[in-house]
Amino acid sequence: MFNTIRPPEIPASLSAHRRYDDSDVYKSLCEIFYNKCYICEAKEPHDINVEHFTPHKGDKKKKFDWNNLYLACSRCNNIKLAEFDGILDCCDPSLDVFRAIRHVPPITPYARTVQLVAMVANARVDLTRNLLERIYNSDHTINKKISGGFLRHKIFAQYNSLLDQINSYYDPLATDDEKKLSLERMKKLIHKSAPFSAFTRWCLLDDVILGDLLVEFMD
Ligand SMILES: [Zn+2]
Repeated sequence: MFNTIRPPEIPASLSAHRRYDDSDVYKSLCEIFYNKCYICEAKEPHDINVEHFTPHKGDKKKKFDWNNLYLACSRCNNIKLAEFDGILDCCDPSLDVFRAIRHVPPITPYARTVQLVAMVANARVDLTRNLLERIYNSDHTINKKISGGFLRHKIFAQYNSLLDQINSYYDPLATDDEKKLSLERMKKLIHKSAPFSAFTRWCLLDDVILGDLLVEFMD
Protein backbone atom coordinates (compact mmCIF):
# COMPACT_ATOMS: atom_id res chain seq x y z
CA MET A 1 0.00 0.00 0.00
CA PHE A 2 1.03 3.60 -0.41
CA ASN A 3 -0.01 6.93 1.09
CA THR A 4 -1.60 9.53 -1.10
CA ILE A 5 -3.27 12.93 -0.74
CA ARG A 6 -6.88 13.53 -1.67
CA PRO A 7 -7.66 17.11 -2.74
CA PRO A 8 -10.82 18.53 -1.12
CA GLU A 9 -12.46 19.57 -4.43
CA ILE A 10 -15.49 17.32 -4.93
CA PRO A 11 -16.21 16.17 -8.51
CA ALA A 12 -19.39 17.81 -9.86
CA SER A 13 -21.31 14.58 -10.50
CA LEU A 14 -20.95 13.62 -6.82
CA SER A 15 -22.28 16.95 -5.58
CA ALA A 16 -25.28 16.46 -7.84
CA HIS A 17 -25.73 12.88 -6.51
CA ARG A 18 -25.96 11.66 -10.11
CA ARG A 19 -23.58 8.70 -9.97
CA TYR A 20 -20.67 7.85 -7.70
CA ASP A 21 -18.58 6.48 -10.59
CA ASP A 22 -19.06 9.07 -13.33
CA SER A 23 -16.12 9.98 -15.55
CA ASP A 24 -15.13 13.07 -13.51
CA VAL A 25 -14.91 10.95 -10.33
CA TYR A 26 -12.94 8.28 -12.14
CA LYS A 27 -10.55 10.86 -13.62
CA SER A 28 -9.88 12.48 -10.22
CA LEU A 29 -9.36 9.10 -8.55
CA CYS A 30 -6.92 8.02 -11.27
CA GLU A 31 -4.84 11.12 -10.50
CA ILE A 32 -5.00 10.66 -6.72
CA PHE A 33 -4.06 6.98 -6.87
CA TYR A 34 -1.56 7.32 -9.74
CA ASN A 35 -3.69 5.02 -11.83
CA LYS A 36 -3.01 2.18 -9.38
CA CYS A 37 -5.21 -0.08 -7.30
CA TYR A 38 -4.89 1.34 -3.76
CA ILE A 39 -4.69 -2.14 -2.26
CA CYS A 40 -2.45 -4.32 -4.46
CA GLU A 41 -0.66 -1.43 -6.24
CA ALA A 42 -1.15 -2.94 -9.72
CA LYS A 43 -0.66 -0.10 -12.21
CA GLU A 44 -3.29 0.46 -14.91
CA PRO A 45 -5.17 -2.74 -14.04
CA HIS A 46 -7.30 -4.09 -16.86
CA ASP A 47 -10.47 -3.81 -14.77
CA ILE A 48 -10.92 -0.98 -12.30
CA ASN A 49 -13.72 -0.14 -9.84
CA VAL A 50 -14.66 2.93 -7.89
CA GLU A 51 -14.80 1.36 -4.45
CA HIS A 52 -16.49 2.42 -1.24
CA PHE A 53 -13.88 2.29 1.52
CA THR A 54 -16.67 1.89 4.05
CA PRO A 55 -19.52 -0.11 2.47
CA HIS A 56 -22.50 2.20 1.90
CA LYS A 57 -25.17 -0.50 2.41
CA GLY A 58 -27.72 1.80 0.79
CA ASP A 59 -26.74 4.86 2.85
CA LYS A 60 -26.83 7.73 0.33
CA LYS A 61 -24.41 9.89 2.33
CA LYS A 62 -21.75 7.17 2.31
CA LYS A 63 -22.50 6.30 -1.30
CA PHE A 64 -21.73 9.80 -2.58
CA ASP A 65 -19.12 10.76 0.02
CA TRP A 66 -16.01 11.90 -1.87
CA ASN A 67 -13.78 10.79 1.02
CA ASN A 68 -15.25 7.28 0.85
CA LEU A 69 -14.37 6.60 -2.81
CA TYR A 70 -11.18 4.72 -3.76
CA LEU A 71 -9.72 3.17 -6.88
CA ALA A 72 -9.44 -0.63 -6.72
CA CYS A 73 -8.90 -3.39 -9.26
CA SER A 74 -11.76 -5.86 -9.59
CA ARG A 75 -9.74 -8.63 -7.90
CA CYS A 76 -9.13 -6.53 -4.76
CA ASN A 77 -12.62 -5.10 -4.79
CA ASN A 78 -14.03 -8.60 -4.96
CA ILE A 79 -11.84 -9.94 -2.14
CA LYS A 80 -12.30 -6.97 0.20
CA LEU A 81 -16.11 -6.65 0.09
CA ALA A 82 -17.60 -5.90 3.51
CA GLU A 83 -15.42 -8.35 5.42
CA PHE A 84 -12.49 -5.95 5.68
CA ASP A 85 -14.24 -2.82 6.85
CA GLY A 86 -11.79 -0.73 8.92
CA ILE A 87 -8.43 -1.31 7.17
CA LEU A 88 -5.66 1.33 7.17
CA ASP A 89 -6.69 4.40 5.20
CA CYS A 90 -3.99 5.39 2.70
CA CYS A 91 -5.53 8.89 2.41
CA ASP A 92 -5.12 9.54 6.16
CA PRO A 93 -1.98 11.71 6.50
CA SER A 94 -1.50 10.59 10.12
CA LEU A 95 -0.91 6.98 8.99
CA ASP A 96 2.24 5.56 7.36
CA VAL A 97 0.64 2.64 5.57
CA PHE A 98 3.64 1.08 3.86
CA ARG A 99 5.78 1.09 7.04
CA ALA A 100 2.98 -0.56 9.01
CA ILE A 101 3.28 -3.79 7.00
CA ARG A 102 6.52 -5.20 5.70
CA HIS A 103 6.11 -6.46 2.12
CA VAL A 104 8.61 -9.13 0.99
CA PRO A 105 8.49 -9.84 -2.77
CA PRO A 106 8.46 -13.30 -4.36
CA ILE A 107 12.01 -14.53 -5.07
CA THR A 108 11.09 -16.43 -8.23
CA PRO A 109 8.57 -15.53 -10.99
CA TYR A 110 6.24 -18.40 -10.05
CA ALA A 111 6.54 -18.26 -6.27
CA ARG A 112 3.42 -19.39 -4.41
CA THR A 113 3.44 -16.56 -1.89
CA VAL A 114 4.78 -13.19 -0.87
CA GLN A 115 5.37 -12.39 2.81
CA LEU A 116 3.49 -9.75 4.73
CA VAL A 117 4.54 -8.89 8.27
CA ALA A 118 2.70 -6.54 10.61
CA MET A 119 5.25 -4.06 12.01
CA VAL A 120 2.85 -2.43 14.43
CA ALA A 121 0.73 -4.32 16.95
CA ASN A 122 -2.86 -3.15 16.53
CA ALA A 123 -6.13 -4.56 15.23
CA ARG A 124 -6.33 -2.24 12.23
CA VAL A 125 -2.87 -3.22 10.99
CA ASP A 126 -3.72 -6.91 11.53
CA LEU A 127 -6.94 -6.56 9.53
CA THR A 128 -5.06 -4.84 6.69
CA ARG A 129 -2.31 -7.46 6.75
CA ASN A 130 -4.92 -10.22 6.60
CA LEU A 131 -6.55 -8.55 3.61
CA LEU A 132 -3.20 -8.22 1.83
CA GLU A 133 -2.43 -11.87 2.61
CA ARG A 134 -5.69 -12.78 0.87
CA ILE A 135 -5.01 -10.38 -2.02
CA TYR A 136 -1.47 -11.55 -2.80
CA ASN A 137 -1.56 -15.20 -1.77
CA SER A 138 -5.13 -16.42 -2.00
CA ASP A 139 -5.84 -19.45 -4.20
CA HIS A 140 -9.22 -20.49 -2.81
CA THR A 141 -10.86 -20.53 -6.25
CA ILE A 142 -9.38 -21.37 -9.64
CA ASN A 143 -9.94 -17.79 -10.76
CA LYS A 144 -8.14 -16.40 -7.69
CA LYS A 145 -5.34 -18.92 -8.12
CA ILE A 146 -4.69 -17.79 -11.69
CA SER A 147 -5.05 -14.06 -11.05
CA GLY A 148 -2.94 -14.34 -7.84
CA GLY A 149 -0.15 -16.07 -9.75
CA PHE A 150 -0.32 -13.35 -12.41
CA LEU A 151 -0.12 -10.66 -9.73
CA ARG A 152 2.94 -12.25 -8.04
CA HIS A 153 4.57 -12.60 -11.44
CA LYS A 154 4.20 -8.85 -12.00
CA ILE A 155 5.58 -8.10 -8.52
CA PHE A 156 8.58 -10.30 -9.27
CA ALA A 157 9.20 -8.41 -12.54
CA GLN A 158 9.30 -5.13 -10.61
CA TYR A 159 11.56 -6.66 -7.95
CA ASN A 160 13.82 -7.94 -10.74
CA SER A 161 14.10 -4.42 -12.21
CA LEU A 162 15.14 -3.23 -8.76
CA LEU A 163 17.73 -6.02 -8.48
CA ASP A 164 19.24 -4.93 -11.81
CA GLN A 165 19.77 -1.46 -10.37
CA ILE A 166 21.09 -2.78 -7.06
CA ASN A 167 23.60 -4.98 -8.91
CA SER A 168 24.65 -2.06 -11.12
CA TYR A 169 25.14 0.15 -8.07
CA TYR A 170 27.30 -2.41 -6.26
CA ASP A 171 29.28 -3.46 -9.35
CA PRO A 172 32.95 -2.98 -8.34
CA LEU A 173 33.57 -1.52 -11.82
CA ALA A 174 30.69 1.00 -11.63
CA THR A 175 31.76 4.62 -12.17
CA ASP A 176 30.36 7.45 -10.03
CA ASP A 177 28.08 8.46 -12.90
CA GLU A 178 26.77 4.91 -13.26
CA LYS A 179 26.11 4.71 -9.51
CA LYS A 180 24.22 8.01 -9.68
CA LEU A 181 22.14 6.72 -12.57
CA SER A 182 21.31 3.52 -10.65
CA LEU A 183 20.19 5.59 -7.65
CA GLU A 184 17.99 7.76 -9.88
CA ARG A 185 16.38 4.64 -11.33
CA MET A 186 15.84 3.20 -7.85
CA LYS A 187 14.10 6.46 -6.89
CA LYS A 188 11.69 5.90 -9.76
CA LEU A 189 11.05 2.33 -8.65
CA ILE A 190 10.22 3.37 -5.07
CA HIS A 191 8.14 6.41 -5.98
CA LYS A 192 4.53 6.02 -4.85
CA SER A 193 3.42 6.27 -8.48
CA ALA A 194 5.39 3.10 -9.36
CA PRO A 195 3.74 -0.32 -9.24
CA PHE A 196 4.19 -2.35 -6.04
CA SER A 197 6.20 0.41 -4.33
CA ALA A 198 5.72 -1.12 -0.87
CA PHE A 199 7.72 -4.17 -2.01
CA THR A 200 10.58 -2.23 -3.60
CA ARG A 201 10.75 0.16 -0.65
CA TRP A 202 11.07 -2.64 1.88
CA CYS A 203 13.87 -4.28 -0.16
CA LEU A 204 15.87 -1.07 0.01
CA LEU A 205 15.01 -0.25 3.62
CA ASP A 206 16.67 -3.55 4.51
CA ASP A 207 19.95 -2.51 2.85
CA VAL A 208 22.21 -0.61 5.26
CA ILE A 209 23.75 1.53 2.50
CA LEU A 210 20.91 2.03 0.00
CA GLY A 211 18.32 2.32 2.77
CA ASP A 212 20.13 5.33 4.23
CA LEU A 213 20.58 6.91 0.81
CA LEU A 214 16.98 6.50 -0.28
CA VAL A 215 14.85 6.63 2.87
CA GLU A 216 14.12 10.34 2.34
CA PHE A 217 12.38 9.47 -0.94
CA MET A 218 9.92 7.12 0.78
CA ASP A 219 7.23 9.68 1.64
ZN1 LIG B 1 -5.79 -4.59 -6.63
